[in-house]
Amino acid sequence: MNGKATHRVVIVGAGFGGLNAATSLADAPVQITVIDRSNFHTFQPLLYQVATAGLSPGEIASPIRSILRHHKNVEVLMAEVTDFDLERRVVQTEDQEVPYDSLILAAGASHAYFGHDEWETLAPGLKTIEDALEIRRRVLLAFELAERQASAGNPAEPLNFVVVGAGPTGVELAGTLAEICRHALAQDFRSIDPRRTHIHLIEGGPHVLPAYPEDLSRSALEQLQRLGVEVLTSTMVTKIEPGVICMGETRMSAAVILWAAGVAASPLGKKLGVLVDRAGRVLVQPDLSIADHPEVFVIGDLTALKDASGKMLPGVAPVAILEGRYVAKVIRGEIARGEALPRQPAPRKPFHYWDKGNLATIGRAAAVAQFGKIHISGFMAWLAWLFVHILFLIGFRNRLLVFIQWAWSYFTYERGARLITGSVNLPGWEGLHSGRGGVIEREQEIPAATRK
Ligand SMILES: Cc1cc2nc3c(=O)[nH]c(=O)nc-3n(C[C@H](O)[C@H](O)[C@H](O)COP(=O)(O)OP(=O)(O)OC[C@H]3O[C@@H](n4cnc5c(N)ncnc54)[C@H](O)[C@@H]3O)c2cc1C
Repeated sequence: MNGKATHRVVIVGAGFGGLNAATSLADAPVQITVIDRSNFHTFQPLLYQVATAGLSPGEIASPIRSILRHHKNVEVLMAEVTDFDLERRVVQTEDQEVPYDSLILAAGASHAYFGHDEWETLAPGLKTIEDALEIRRRVLLAFELAERQASAGNPAEPLNFVVVGAGPTGVELAGTLAEICRHALAQDFRSIDPRRTHIHLIEGGPHVLPAYPEDLSRSALEQLQRLGVEVLTSTMVTKIEPGVICMGETRMSAAVILWAAGVAASPLGKKLGVLVDRAGRVLVQPDLSIADHPEVFVIGDLTALKDASGKMLPGVAPVAILEGRYVAKVIRGEIARGEALPRQPAPRKPFHYWDKGNLATIGRAAAVAQFGKIHISGFMAWLAWLFVHILFLIGFRNRLLVFIQWAWSYFTYERGARLITGSVNLPGWEGLHSGRGGVIEREQEIPAATRK
């Protein structure tokens, strides 16, 4: 720790936003405390690869302590932040108070089940390494249970996997699941044929990738269908039971149900006592601070901020990264000008986000990309996606390992991380399959009009 530094910066969350704020402040005359409930940083864009057995957790996560090892003015605390006292300027964890002069809150977001939290155990979402491992467990276990049942003389109907929500996460999960059923697993079973697995992608709105331009949404739909994904748009999920998903009157059995439909900001946002939007994101000032507290900044997925055209900034890594760097620059500048601990600081230049483009992957050599007016699909978009995501992975070792894994699986279709760990129970499997010889029939066929 730098003994001369007196200005204390506390950063809550070592995701994209928090880490970039920390590294951008690392040679400034400040003492930085990074607090995260995990001891590792997760590269969320590649979580779906862990969930679908393409990569192992260690390849997309790095210890926070080792990322920040060389920055001597940074200390790392592994702790759950529970509250703040803005008047006394302290962050509260389960067992201590951490004082600050500047606070950067970068605690990210989680899943929203729209008032149906009871669905969470039946339909896990994908946000953390733990979620990815749970999804991998369920997917691989479904095939094992089906094989066991079929080899005992009870051949089952083909498995149904359902992904709810056709944003980027739902699309990449559905596309990759379809691929592994048709390729990686195709030769490995004797009593079942994984190629007959149905992958359903259910979306409440009229388009897949609703935030993308219409031509790219259309292209994504075609690419999904080429992979064998059955896409249902304008379809609302009304109920989830163990192994069953309901859409109005339609009940569909599902060996695995995955949730990629909603985002809720970290509950820490509400603890600041300022206005939040419906998703719990903090309505920040143009300089990312909160009302009446210029020393408290909120960044990344936890922030609700509109750009100059009035469009809400998306919850993506580049926004969090640039916000982290911007806040670091504000703090450095004010310290350099002797304005540290400002109650009424000189007006700050607002944060400006320059959107360089959007990329969504669908599967092997399948993706869509938008760079301003340039829209591309298919192999070239996939290459761009691959390049960008490997480039931004933290650590040379990870980049190299992921690149090698990717090249290997591109040519061989192999998925090397097919490990089932933890429980060997699958919600609803017993009730749906025992003695019935197959998957529950649909009580009502899905109306043709909703099939794309
Ligand atoms: C499956 C998935 C795929 C994605 N794909 C892409 C993509 O391809 N491209 C893209 O740009 N973006 C993608 N994103 C979005 C991107 O990952 C987020 O926008 C980005 O991570 C936001 O950064 P952040 O710093 O705000 O939060 P996060 O990266 O979520 O970090 C939040 C940190 O806060 C910590 N934390 C939370 N609560 C507490 C607490 N109470 N106490 C202590 N610590 C706490 C967490 O442990 C975590 O480390 C994806 C997200 C997901 C989930």
